Amino acid sequence: MSPFTILIVEDEDAIRDMLVMVLQQYDFNVLDAIDVAQAQTILHETIPDLILLDWMLPLITGDEWTRRLKASEQYRDIPIILLTAKSEENDKIKGLDLGADDYITKPFSPKELIARIKAVLRRSGKIHDLAQIQFQDIILNTEQHTASIANNTVDLSPTEFRLLRFFLSHPDKVYNRTQLLDQVWGRDVYIEERTVDVHIRRLRKILARHQREDWLQTVRGFGYRFSEHNPK
Ligand code: CA
Repeated sequence: MSPFTILIVEDEDAIRDMLVMVLQQYDFNVLDAIDVAQAQTILHETIPDLILLDWMLPLITGDEWTRRLKASEQYRDIPIILLTAKSEENDKIKGLDLGADDYITKPFSPKELIARIKAVLRRSGKIHDLAQIQFQDIILNTEQHTASIANNTVDLSPTEFRLLRFFLSHPDKVYNRTQLLDQVWGRDVYIEERTVDVHIRRLRKILARHQREDWLQTVRGFGYRFSEHNPK
């Protein structure tokens, strides 16, 4: 449940599909485009956290688009990883000169790809740690399964951890009990909706110890939401 969105620009269907699949497996939100024109349309609506950009594209090539993006005030902060079949050192240097943040030579393994993406996201200062989810002063580490509020360690049961993780990744939106059951407990599990209320109460009690219970809000007639803003 990563909050990071990656835009893939790749004209070869097989490679694009593979990239989409791999990134989705690693819980990234994925947008994909077959060329720069399509990618540009996507950018008008969504600013991704990173662009995975094929070098050899029809019309506008990846290196040319990198140059334009890095010259644009609006888009220059988006990290770019260039993908290419070229393995010559010269092209690599050219790509990095243009402002690309990294460079991956095809063929590459999914593991290498994910490692490069994580490294670039870290370097770009977007994240300190991909395993970390933060909402104000609440921090969850999804690899170590630790939680803290205002630097105080908080003990959570696995269910409370998953519930809080879901809320922190989806702030300000209202979820009803059925949606929370599906998202936090999973669709295949049969649990009464009342169970959700029980865990919400427990989580609220834990938050109350740190004066954060107001953030876990009941929206009458709808469900629950996590927000630092007071309900209207
Ligand atoms: Ca290509």
